[in-house]
Amino acid sequence: RAKANGGNRYHFYNHNLDREAVERIELRNALYQALRNSEFELHYQPQVSVVEGRIVGAEALIRWNRPGKGMVSPACFIPLAEECGLINEIGKWVLENACAQLKAWQQCGLNLRVAVNLSASQLDDPCFYDQLQSCLERHDLQPEHLELELTESTLMKHVDHTVELLNRLDRLGVHLSIDDFGTGYSSLSYLKRFPLNTLKIDQSFVRDLCIDPDDAVICRTIISMAKNLNLTVTAEGVEQEAQLNKLAELGCELYQGFLFSRPIPANELTRLCQEYIPPEVGRFAI
Ligand code: C2E
Ligand code: MG
Ligand code: MG
Ligand code: MG
Repeated sequence: RAKANGGNRYHFYNHNLDREAVERIELRNALYQALRNSEFELHYQPQVSVVEGRIVGAEALIRWNRPGKGMVSPACFIPLAEECGLINEIGKWVLENACAQLKAWQQCGLNLRVAVNLSASQLDDPCFYDQLQSCLERHDLQPEHLELELTESTLMKHVDHTVELLNRLDRLGVHLSIDDFGTGYSSLSYLKRFPLNTLKIDQSFVRDLCIDPDDAVICRTIISMAKNLNLTVTAEGVEQEAQLNKLAELGCELYQGFLFSRPIPANELTRLCQEYIPPEVGRFAI
C-alpha cells in the first residue's frame, strides 16, 4: 500500500515537472515572438530630488504585454531571457527605445536623465560598447543624459573586463549606477575600482526605515559613505511621506517610489512633467 502511494506520488510529481517544462518552453517561444511582434513596452518611473522635489530623471522598466495573458512582470521573464540567451536582443531593444524617448523628451523641452537596467551578459557582449555609442550618436544624445544601472553581482562577474569596459563608458560620459545596493555579495573595494556615479539604496532597506533602527543605520551609513566617495545616492521604493522625511534628514539626494509615482507609460510621464509643480523650495529644513 505504501508502495502504491509512493507510485502515485511519483506519477503526480512527474506530471507537474512535465507541465513546468512545457510552460517554460512555451514562455521561451513566446519571448522570441514578443521581440518580433513588438509586445514589449517601456514604462518610466520618475527620479525626484528629495529637497527640491524636482523630477530629474526616469528609470526605464520593461513591460511585456503578452497576448491573452496581460502584463507580465520583468521579474518573471528577465531571468528566463537571460537563461535562454535572449537578453542581449531585448537589452538592445530597451536601449534603442529609451534613447529615442529621451530624444523626444529633449525635443519638447524636458531635461531628464534616463536610466536603463543592464544584465551581466550584455557587458560580456563584445559589441556592447560600439552599439551603445552608435545608439547615442544616431539619436544625437549627449552620453551624460543616459544612466546605466548594474547590480553588484553583474559588476563582480568578470571584474577585470568590467573595470575596463566601465572605464571606457565613463570616458564616453555615460552615468553609471549600482542598483539594489547593499543586497549583493561583494566587497566594498570595488567602489574604488569602478568609475561609479550613483548608489541606489535597495528598497528592502527603505521599507522599514522609520520603524527598524537597523535599517536607519544602514541607510545613514550608505549615504555618508557615498558622500565621502563623491557618489550620488538614490533611494528606491519610497512609499510613505515619513520615509521621504527620514531620507531628507539623512541627506539622501534622489528618490523613486510609489509615493511620487509608479512606473508609467512615456506619454503619461510627459504630461506629469509638464503639469507637475514642485513644492516650495526649502520644504525640508536640513
Ligand atoms: P529594479 O531595477 O531594482 O527596479 C525597481 C523595481 O521596484 C521595479 O519593479 C519598480 O516597479 C519597483 N518599484 C518602484 N517603486 C516601488 C515602490 O515604492 N514599492 C515597491 N514595492 N516597488 C517599487 P519592476 O518594474 O517589476 O522590475 C523588476 C526588476 O526587473 C528591476 O528591478 C530590474 O532588475 C528588472 N528589469 C526591469 N526592466 C529591465 C530591463 O529593461 N532590463 C533588465 N536587464 N532588467 C530589467
Ligand atoms: Mg533598476
Ligand atoms: Mg533596484
Ligand atoms: Mg531589483
